[in-house]
Amino acid sequence: MIEGMPLPATDDPLDREFWSKARDGKLVVQACGDCGTSRFPPRPMCPHCQSENVTWRDDPGTATIWSFATPRPPLLPAFEAITPYITVIGALDSDPMIRIAGMAVTGADDAFTGLTAEDVEIGQPLTIHFQTVSPDCALPVWRLGPRI
Ligand SMILES: [Zn+2]
Repeated sequence: MIEGMPLPATDDPLDREFWSKARDGKLVVQACGDCGTSRFPPRPMCPHCQSENVTWRDDPGTATIWSFATPRPPLLPAFEAITPYITVIGALDSDPMIRIAGMAVTGADDAFTGLTAEDVEIGQPLTIHFQTVSPDCALPVWRLGPRI
């Protein structure tokens, strides 16, 4: 855990299902209960058909790097101590229009410190994992796969 890291509210009815499954190490994606269109982040209404019916689908959490960034100062104080690190936007293999941000991690201990832009490239495979950062919050991180 990063001392002082701002954490999301995990008890909002809109995305409570996502955070609940995240604590169990599982990815779920909100989908429209009528037309089936997936959406992320969770929203109260389908942007495709305007339905308010919601379902959730399990997702294997495999993806590829759609974009990445190396955050540069000034950073929030909580993040200054862990630089350099890489923030990745992963496009899910199951639906590339679903893109989820998270820190890139590598190695058996899912360390994110020390990674630089030379360690990642667009299209590189990823697998989502969830790091427990508080008793009620596990954040998504992206484990880097081999470069293509
Ligand atoms: Zn819909």
